Amino acid sequence: MIYFKSEEEVGLIKESADILGRAHGLLAKEVKAGIKTNHLDKIAEEFIRDHGGVPSFKNYNGFPSSLCISVNENVVHGFPSDYELNDGDIVSIDCGVFFKGFHSDSAYTYAIGQVEDSVKSLLRDTEKSLYIGIEQAVAGNRIGDIGFAIQSYVEERGYSVVRELVGHGLGKALHEEPEVPNYGKRGRGTKLKSGMVIAIEPMVNLGKRNIVQEKDGWTIRTADRMPSAHFEHTVAIWSDRTEIITTHKYIEEVYKL
Ligand code: MG
Ligand code: MG
Repeated sequence: MIYFKSEEEVGLIKESADILGRAHGLLAKEVKAGIKTNHLDKIAEEFIRDHGGVPSFKNYNGFPSSLCISVNENVVHGFPSDYELNDGDIVSIDCGVFFKGFHSDSAYTYAIGQVEDSVKSLLRDTEKSLYIGIEQAVAGNRIGDIGFAIQSYVEERGYSVVRELVGHGLGKALHEEPEVPNYGKRGRGTKLKSGMVIAIEPMVNLGKRNIVQEKDGWTIRTADRMPSAHFEHTVAIWSDRTEIITTHKYIEEVYKL
């Protein structure tokens, strides 16, 4: 079932999202060649806990870390390690914060140093597709309108959309109904109504859409080992407007794609 949120509850999600946004900003300053991904996880966890929050992903179904860090062909659910970021890598950092009883969730993909033009375009277009999806997340539309808009935008540009992993409702739980696929048909699916809070998170591949799970039991990568990008915001839908609850503004202050 879908849990509809009051303005007061969305206010608490905003407090969670403020910690999350500033954690992302801290990470943006650290994301560069030579940095180990487990260093990023450590500073994010410290920041979140210092501000009274709990990293949403840590121990979620046994997940080992606070961040999902997915490099290059890894799509999502990668976890931090001794791997050192290299010039030419792309890295998706997905983070969630639980604070005052509510989760917020957002992701951003960075280019490390100089990346190939095709990969830079993949990042720009995937980020753009997130906002194109959000434009459709308005009361009266349906879930399929969001996926249709994202899928059309990225497929017209020659990319493919991951189908097996989707966005989601969230609130007291990190994953609530409804599912929010990044593909779909216009006018289909659950009707969007005031009080719904959803995470929209396009996962877009430079090559084919097929994915496989690594033997570590978590990391999802592209089957053809081509790069994949991931951007995510948590949004609240009201009868007269849609609010983007999470923010990338602290990232954008230090990092420009
Ligand atoms: Mg996320
Ligand atoms: Mg999510």
